Amino acid sequence: MPEPSVLASLVSALRDGTIEIVDLTCPLSSSTPVIQLPPEFGQTAVFELEEISRYDDRGPAWYWNNFRSGEHTGTHFDAPNHWVTGRDLADVASVPAGRLVAPAVVLDFSAEAAEDPDFLVEVEHIKAWEAENGPLPDGGWLLLRTGWDARSHGQEEFLNADDTGSHAPGLSPECARWVSQESPVRGLGVETVGTDAGQAFTFEPAFPCHSYLMGSDKYGLTQLRNLAQLPPTGSVVIAGPLPIVGGSGAPARVLALVERS
Ligand code: MN
Repeated sequence: MPEPSVLASLVSALRDGTIEIVDLTCPLSSSTPVIQLPPEFGQTAVFELEEISRYDDRGPAWYWNNFRSGEHTGTHFDAPNHWVTGRDLADVASVPAGRLVAPAVVLDFSAEAAEDPDFLVEVEHIKAWEAENGPLPDGGWLLLRTGWDARSHGQEEFLNADDTGSHAPGLSPECARWVSQESPVRGLGVETVGTDAGQAFTFEPAFPCHSYLMGSDKYGLTQLRNLAQLPPTGSVVIAGPLPIVGGSGAPARVLALVERS
């Protein structure tokens, strides 16, 4: 008997449960939280459905909707041209499909974020993680687990804002620079509303994850959930943003393949 092909082995592993698919995507609805910028700036739209017909006079045998959404609404992908530092780099439709399937590691800072919602990951945290788990994956995703997905059902709890702005965990400016410019990963995935910490508008540079990631031709994934179901290393993430021509990002279905023993 010839050896089964790699894909045939994958299919059989999916069928027998050796490989499980974990959905990292938050459902999209009008109650999906969206980021809120200071009032002087333009705002992103919440997701909205508009019914075209539902087995009625407008279309007796079919149900369908139009929808309105921000590119950066719900679980979504940030393309390099999202930030001024990456303005001449790829739009979301130009991101090579081969980069949308990639290995992932999960770094868990949910205990730290529960103690301090403004918790910032530093380079030393990542180096300590690497000493235990091996290097970050070349061309892969660094997924940041903070426990924030438990808050994703409501705008208020998710943004966690007071009169000093939003309080949500993220990377320090130096860590954002290091991940973008020195580490081999292709992107950063988070459970929060954006890749940057809630207070990142006060950082130098402001919004360092966006600034450094996009400027380095890297990507962001936001509002992920179920990262707790992934092992620290060894999963594969499939991130599928809509290929909006010229777009700066898009809602994405994000799936992880996880091997169960
Ligand atoms: Mn975004």
